Amino acid sequence: MEADFVIVGAGSAGCAMAYRLSEAGASVLVIEHGGTDAGPFIQMPAALSYPMNMRMYDWGYRSEPEPHLNNRQLACPRGKVIGGSSSINGMVYVRGHARDFDTWAEMGADGWSYADVLPYYKRMETWHDGGHGGDPTWRGSEGPLHVSRGPRENPLFQAFVDAGKQAGYEVTGDYNGEQQEGFGPMEQTVWKGRRWSAANAYLKPALKRENCDIVRGLATKVVMENGRATGVELIRSGKAEIIRARREVVLAASSINSPKLLMLSGIGPAAHLAEHGIDVVADRPGVGANLQDHLELYIQQASLQPITLYKHWNLISKGLIGAQWLFTKTGLGASNQFESAAFIRSKPGVEYPDIQYHFLPMAVRYDGQAAAEGHGFQAHVGPMRSPSRGAVTLRSSKVEDAPVIRFNYMSHEEDWEDFRTCIRLTREIFGQDAFKPYAGKEIQPGADVHSDDELNAFIAEHAESAYHPCGTCRMGRADDKNAVVDPQGRVIGVDGLRVADSSIFPQITNGNLNAPSIMVGEKMSDHLLGKDALPAANDRPWIHPQWAVAQR
Ligand SMILES: Cc1cc2nc3c(=O)[nH]c(=O)nc-3n(C[C@H](O)[C@H](O)[C@H](O)COP(=O)(O)OP(=O)(O)OC[C@H]3O[C@@H](n4cnc5c(N)ncnc54)[C@H](O)[C@@H]3O)c2cc1C
Repeated sequence: MEADFVIVGAGSAGCAMAYRLSEAGASVLVIEHGGTDAGPFIQMPAALSYPMNMRMYDWGYRSEPEPHLNNRQLACPRGKVIGGSSSINGMVYVRGHARDFDTWAEMGADGWSYADVLPYYKRMETWHDGGHGGDPTWRGSEGPLHVSRGPRENPLFQAFVDAGKQAGYEVTGDYNGEQQEGFGPMEQTVWKGRRWSAANAYLKPALKRENCDIVRGLATKVVMENGRATGVELIRSGKAEIIRARREVVLAASSINSPKLLMLSGIGPAAHLAEHGIDVVADRPGVGANLQDHLELYIQQASLQPITLYKHWNLISKGLIGAQWLFTKTGLGASNQFESAAFIRSKPGVEYPDIQYHFLPMAVRYDGQAAAEGHGFQAHVGPMRSPSRGAVTLRSSKVEDAPVIRFNYMSHEEDWEDFRTCIRLTREIFGQDAFKPYAGKEIQPGADVHSDDELNAFIAEHAESAYHPCGTCRMGRADDKNAVVDPQGRVIGVDGLRVADSSIFPQITNGNLNAPSIMVGEKMSDHLLGKDALPAANDRPWIHPQWAVAQR
């Protein structure tokens, strides 16, 4: 088998590339280890906590024991299904702050500043504002990715925004537009009541074209001939085979498996490859390094009124919600239930938000475990720009062995200060008048957890990943010895091979990672096709005028 472009991974970025490359007439073969996304566990938005726990849809990775988190091994789910992680994620839609991309450019990713990426964000989306506000000049209206807002019927969603305002923060009508900073409605990749994954948005329409196809198999390495990638080796139905690329091979296997595949193919830190008996094709010390993530805490408050989702936390109610969704694609099943958000700054002198909130009208972990007994609500809160860095390395040279994933979470004092700030600021928000009719006792951290030491102990035991690993094939200038790909996604030191997914982010963005991963796929398609990038935008984002001297 052969095609112009062979893409490994039908995830957020891979699906976008399959669509754009085949749209331009190139032939595309996508190799994907996971299978179908059919059925309510993936398609019904409110079922989001199921697929992330199902081995059928998840690679099942865990971190190594994290020394600063009581040696806990944190879950590191990655989608193993068409759509990749966009098929098992929480469907929250956040582009990131404009300054994130300016920082990428400053770090050597020329052509990836906000002015450069904004046109791609607009190209990829069709935004349904539902009359809630926002400025269409910042938003797209013709892209494959439908973005909407939940109905926000539960009064707690508005209480969260009102409380933010009462505490002196900004209110923003559209955090994906001109102004990220503030409290406001959250957006979701949900359309007509269904999860609008990269598979639904991009891959399925692309597969209707004659020049785009998908092969189910496990990619084991890139085939290299005279320093050039010419194809991909894979195992399909128990047999090894090779798919050849006439033009280029593109890895879009995400932040854990893209660096793993590079290393298995001889591209990575030479000494580490030698340890595992792998012949070195290109000594790139940056492969697997620069691993970043977001951690978050769930700050939970009992609700005095029986209005939370807890009333539906039983089999009969879940069955009724599921039935309504199956027949009409409406009701509680049709939303991810993250319908209010906030982006704030932790202290004066921070130029743009470094704390993100997701508000949920129920007290339960993200993965659906450990629901509180009784009515409650919670904020997921965490710092956005941790200085901690980890690495993905090989456990062995066997493709079937999970790599070693070490985040080094909370390895800087700044991480602890920032998390304590997150807890204290959240308590202040939940203490505002807007929550007076609803807020009962604090469920966690709890009334007796206040001193720095007590908060640190709580953080060490309860911080969880927000599932945003990235940065392990960092993009940078071609002469940067620790960069893995250049600003066009080309693996430095090798011909015919690119990486395009969340692993190339130089630095994690200020929000969730599906939108920027899809944006990478969109923009990289133009590079692969040799087209000029879309003209840069001139629109400048809103920055708090008092940021240097005030926190809000
Ligand atoms: C549980 C969870 C919740 C999340 N919640 C949100 C959220 O609410 N909002 C948000 O914006 N982001 C969220 N994220 C993060 C976001 O979804 C991901 O960062 C993003 O989808 C990553 O895109 P990607 O293109 O890098 O990789 P993926 O989308 O992960 O795609 C990689 C693909 O490559 C395939 N693959 C890997 N290795 C091989 C191989 N060897 N052979 C063949 N195929 C292979 C995988 O099976 C997968 O399909 C969440 C992630 C998870 C896991």
